[in-house]
Amino acid sequence: MEGIRIGKIFGIPIEMHISFILLILLLFVSGIIFGNLYIVFYILLLFFFVVLHELSHSLVALKYGVKIDRIMLLPFGGVASMKDIPREPKKELRIAIAGPLMNFLFALISFLILYAFNKVERLFPFFMISQTFEFFDILATVFKINLILGIFNLFVPALPMDGGRVLRAILAMRIGFLRATELSAGIAKIIAVAMFMIGILSLNPLLLLISFFVYIGAEQESKFIYISTLLSGLKVEDIMTADVITVSKDMSLEELYVFMLKHRHMGYPVVDDGRVVGVVTFSDLSQIRREDWGRFKVEDIMSTKLITCRKDEEVLDALMKMNRENVGRLLVFENDKLIGIITRTDIIRAIEILRLGKA
Ligand code: ZN
Repeated sequence: MEGIRIGKIFGIPIEMHISFILLILLLFVSGIIFGNLYIVFYILLLFFFVVLHELSHSLVALKYGVKIDRIMLLPFGGVASMKDIPREPKKELRIAIAGPLMNFLFALISFLILYAFNKVERLFPFFMISQTFEFFDILATVFKINLILGIFNLFVPALPMDGGRVLRAILAMRIGFLRATELSAGIAKIIAVAMFMIGILSLNPLLLLISFFVYIGAEQESKFIYISTLLSGLKVEDIMTADVITVSKDMSLEELYVFMLKHRHMGYPVVDDGRVVGVVTFSDLSQIRREDWGRFKVEDIMSTKLITCRKDEEVLDALMKMNRENVGRLLVFENDKLIGIITRTDIIRAIEILRLGKA
């Protein structure tokens, strides 16, 4: 899912989903046009508590040593994309609950203050935005925002929302992580379809957005868990190609073409004096027009950024690195020496073969 990077907290990149940006812009513009600054203010308040919600997840995750790649903020909450989702249900449960718990805490505090000052009536009508900047009205809105965020995230049992994670964790304690994921993803999709239909009938764009988000998220998550379960324990050295076919940086493109046809790999490390200086791929070559081939050598078209891994790295991590760096292969180095190469195709074939063993 695409988001726009807005900053970093505790070293975690925070991204804002395009729908959230659009929503804020829309409300900003309409708030300014109609001179209603309350909407603008309350939307910023919502944004603040969404960030706080996500940070609570992240802090608990960090405590368990789960690395957070990035946090994506959506209008109704957010998703912390964890590098590896903890397979221990208790940890996942605590990470999932942390976000809504923070919201409930703020809701409770603001309610207690309202109660203490005899201002509980400021909460009503509940679904109206109060049109003043008075302290107790702001507090009433803090209560509403947090109550809604907390309830919605915790009690809709649809992966990848918090409630779905709680459900998966509870199921995982009984039927194992993989089956629990498949089951919760199935439930999530049913909920997503229901949300979609209600969204259509009630002309609610936010609900439509959430339904897409839940459906795609559930699909991605169950696929990811399936693949990571299949690949678990498999190391790069188990499937890498150890006899690496390299090309020289001085090779002409014509020679490279013949070489590629002979070996039929789509990418080759480029060496100079026994040292790896780059990688040249089929796509590098295909970007040069045929009639220009005579004007370049391999070193002119290769990429010099070496994306590498170690032989004892997990294949799953290698795959995620490929996705992150948008490359089809990683060079395997040991003590500054090239000892192998692992490609996306290697991994896909490994997954296909491992599938046989699981059925
Ligand atoms: Zn959450």
